Amino acid sequence: MRRVSEPLERTLVLLKPDAVERALIGTIITRFENVGLKIVGMKMVWVDADFSKKHYSDHVSKPFYKGLESFITAGPVIAMAIEGISSVDLVRKMVGATEPKKAVPGTIRGDYSQHSYEWADKKGIAIKNLIHASDSLENAQKELKLWFAPSELHSYKTVHEVHVF
Ligand code: ATP
Ligand code: MG
Repeated sequence: MRRVSEPLERTLVLLKPDAVERALIGTIITRFENVGLKIVGMKMVWVDADFSKKHYSDHVSKPFYKGLESFITAGPVIAMAIEGISSVDLVRKMVGATEPKKAVPGTIRGDYSQHSYEWADKKGIAIKNLIHASDSLENAQKELKLWFAPSELHSYKTVHEVHVF
């Protein structure tokens, strides 16, 4: 049971093109809904190269960036703003390690992919790991501003507030 005294946070989640093309949208969203996390914004976006550079600004100078840009612009993504108690940390735990082969069973990356760095390197592509989640509250706030206009984010009540927390 998560304590209500923990902070209510919003975080950015992206279902990457591999998740969309594998028809895993519903399966992954259900995991967040089941744990009582609330989707307060959602849309389908086909990211272009300029936007990729803004979203992954910390990675632009890294050797894998070219492959990462090709991966994230290869098809539409589902962008979600997810609200909940300590949601930044909780969502990262549910997502699992960056490399799906190392992500433990029970996590989203661990349950739905076996992609490895070795395999990605061999193909010269980014590691296909289905999902992005903000890694800190500060980055969550920055990323939500980049992806959503204030009018695209909503406040409403769910039954989880009564029965799950
Ligand atoms: P994300 O930011 O997408 O949630 P993450 O925080 O787990 O993932 P980061 O280190 O921020 O991992 O890397 C961003 C993305 O770049 C990864 O999700 C992955 O798709 C790709 N990536 C990271 N490191 C490598 C690498 N060494 N080789 C290939 N691709 C990589
Ligand atoms: Mg990251």
